[in-house]
Amino acid sequence: MNEPFPKIGVIGVGHLGRHHVKHLVNHTHANFIGITDIDIDRTREIAEEFDCASYGSLESLLDEVDAVSIVTPTRTHADVAEQCIAAGKHVFIEKPITKTVAEADQLLQQAAEQNIVIQVGHIERLNPALLALKEFDLNPKFIEVQRLAPYTIRGTDVPVVLDLMIHDIDIILSLVDSPVKNIRASGVSLLSDSVDIANARLRFENGTVANITSSRIARNKVRKIKVFQKEMYATIDLLLGLTEVYRVLDEEQDDPNAIQSAALDAYGNHKKIVYEKPDVNQFDALEMELTNFIASVKGKSSPIVDGRAGRDALDVATKIHDMILEDIH
Ligand code: NAD
Repeated sequence: MNEPFPKIGVIGVGHLGRHHVKHLVNHTHANFIGITDIDIDRTREIAEEFDCASYGSLESLLDEVDAVSIVTPTRTHADVAEQCIAAGKHVFIEKPITKTVAEADQLLQQAAEQNIVIQVGHIERLNPALLALKEFDLNPKFIEVQRLAPYTIRGTDVPVVLDLMIHDIDIILSLVDSPVKNIRASGVSLLSDSVDIANARLRFENGTVANITSSRIARNKVRKIKVFQKEMYATIDLLLGLTEVYRVLDEEQDDPNAIQSAALDAYGNHKKIVYEKPDVNQFDALEMELTNFIASVKGKSSPIVDGRAGRDALDVATKIHDMILEDIH
């Protein structure tokens, strides 16, 4: 007999929660139970739009489900997730995992004790353009990231480091297999009450350097990553879904993608430059994330971004933000 699908619900159906519902309501491997939100009108609106059940309280939803997506404002994640885990429910928590590292640590411990899956919504880790890099042997030495976004009031309740930069911190921590050795950071507050533009430089124990700039005061969106390593340079446009790779080969090595032969060392020795544009499979990253969560709840997979990864990204983001505040004041 086939195993039943996990029963799942969504807590918080604002801007992003609506998208979680859209993907879960007809998911082929989940049994969608319903939604809850402290805003009664919003709950009713979303329940009508997706023709699903609404629950008047978190407790009443938890009585019916095996797992939940928590898509409430970040400041509420710790309390809501704590309640869900205490009820024995697996949790997908939107990013950042919590407001503070201490809260994240507490959730991780609680989840470990109860054998509960925590997945964190660092959706950019599933960006198809980033995943296209998987076929290459990565050992970054320098990473340059730029993430710019036009100003909107949504998200400004948290500083730009916790809103935007944390995506890139998570990506960088997944690319560099070494602990962070030191951090330099600075930033400014321009429109909101918190930091709107930030720059951070991470140096890892293995010598890798990452330079990240995040701004929510920009004319157009930009999300670009450049990865430099020995004999390879990759550029990833997370927004356009474009990945381009330049590799250096010895002159005698044959490669159909060789575009140029150039003198690349002090002795004038020629090397071949190979240009590749790996296929970027287009898929919906949120759908993929939720499918990964459902499979993890069933014990058939593990979260691509687990609670520990969410906690570690928050830890670095918090250190960056604290450093910026210290610098400003
Ligand atoms: P939002 O304000 O549009 O929606 C939040 C909803 O949660 C609202 O409907 C609100 O009424 C409800 N809510 C608040 N407290 C609640 C509680 N205790 N119980 C139940 N419902 C509650 O916010 P949003 O933009 O959808 O963001 C939600 C979360 O998603 C935030 O943590 C944010 O950082 C994250 N987010 C992640 C990404 C991403 O790229 N992964 C993008 C946007 C937002």
